[in-house]
Amino acid sequence: MANRDVIVIGGGISGTAAAFDLARGGVKVTLIERGPELAAMASGWTLAGVRQSGRLAPEVPLARAAVKRWEHLNEELDADTEYRQQGNLRLARTPDEVDVIRAMVDEQQALGLEISFLPDNAAVRAVAPALSETVLAASYCPSDGHANPKMAVNAFGRAAEQEGVTIRTNTEVVEIEANGGRVQGVRTNDGFIAADAVVVAAGVYTDRLVRPFGISIPIRITQAIVAQTAPAPPLLAQVLGVANGDIAGRQEVSGRLRFTGTSLPWPSQEPTRDPIVLLPPAGEIAALVQRTAAVFPAFGKLGLEHLWGGLLDMTPDALPVIERAEHVEGLVVAAGFSGHGFCLGPVTGRILAELVTTGTSSLPIEAFRSSRFGSDQPTTEALLHG
Ligand SMILES: Cc1cc2nc3c(=O)[nH]c(=O)nc-3n(C[C@H](O)[C@H](O)[C@H](O)COP(=O)(O)OP(=O)(O)OC[C@H]3O[C@@H](n4cnc5c(N)ncnc54)[C@H](O)[C@@H]3O)c2cc1C
Repeated sequence: MANRDVIVIGGGISGTAAAFDLARGGVKVTLIERGPELAAMASGWTLAGVRQSGRLAPEVPLARAAVKRWEHLNEELDADTEYRQQGNLRLARTPDEVDVIRAMVDEQQALGLEISFLPDNAAVRAVAPALSETVLAASYCPSDGHANPKMAVNAFGRAAEQEGVTIRTNTEVVEIEANGGRVQGVRTNDGFIAADAVVVAAGVYTDRLVRPFGISIPIRITQAIVAQTAPAPPLLAQVLGVANGDIAGRQEVSGRLRFTGTSLPWPSQEPTRDPIVLLPPAGEIAALVQRTAAVFPAFGKLGLEHLWGGLLDMTPDALPVIERAEHVEGLVVAAGFSGHGFCLGPVTGRILAELVTTGTSSLPIEAFRSSRFGSDQPTTEALLHG
């Protein structure tokens, strides 16, 4: 594959990581991003928790491999991603939530994860003293963490360019072209670009690009609210979540607290035409602040500096699609990360590169085939908790 041209559609964490890994393997790559810069959509809007805990079983091997790569990513990319491995706490606020968290810890321990149950408020506040006295219990996974999403994506982008990748922003792929069962290239708003293989990592826009090739990803778009405070002194090292996923947050290296809440139905299943930051409804912001302050009182005392709403690419079972197309040679896809694909980005990129160059993945991806979706698929709500 070394002499062949590959196009990567999408300059989020999945696409930039794929471009880097492909180029490092000697492949000639062009990355195309419709936004004015990298990380223009979910990979810029994200909370950017890097967690293995609370994952559905098929994702656990990928999340563990991702965390292993995150641990050395700064050196690998020769850049700072502000990755911090200081743990994830998922809090129980009611007796019912205590049962949920205890069961989750048992399940995750059975999957081999290093995770413990903190059985009372004293145990929780020994780990995170700024939390409220009303928190009843928590799970604690010390090897989880978080990173700076824009810095991480740009680090992949710069490293990819150093390996020879051409990055074209402000360019939209309108259609993937194929002939005789083989990908031929992409038609963009700026002309046709020939390629032997195309990687589609286009987030909420993926389905429309791959549907002509018999791949259907039933993406339901929702909007998650994010509130970011002014910088504060160090208050919280861990990423916080709660049993039912209605808040999640962390303190950035800048000192800002970044919290997110439940995701709202998006009125149209057509994504917005522009990768703009969408303002969430005022009542939802107030509810998020109230819920967060109830477990983390300092949050309620800080002024909010930024608010945005980020679109999520939800699938019916909250698992992504990662696959090589069956009916057309040279088409590889990753999308539908359902609110938890940032952590996975570094291994998603590796898998995509492997699928292009060898046709197989070194990590198990059978559960991520698009063909698993039948017409009556039940819906699983993903828990957004960093
Ligand atoms: C509020 C929020 C909180 C989140 N919290 C977490 C978390 O804590 N942990 C976690 O792991 N994940 C989290 N996620 C999910 C995570 O951010 C995403 O799963 C991940 O960033 C997806 O990356 P991606 O590269 O696959 O897609 P994206 O980042 O969406 O990138 C796709 C890119 O493709 C471009 N594109 C689309 N169509 C075209 C086209 N036709 N031509 C050219 N370019 C195109 C888009 O502009 C975009 O930049 C969160 C997401 C949100 C919104």
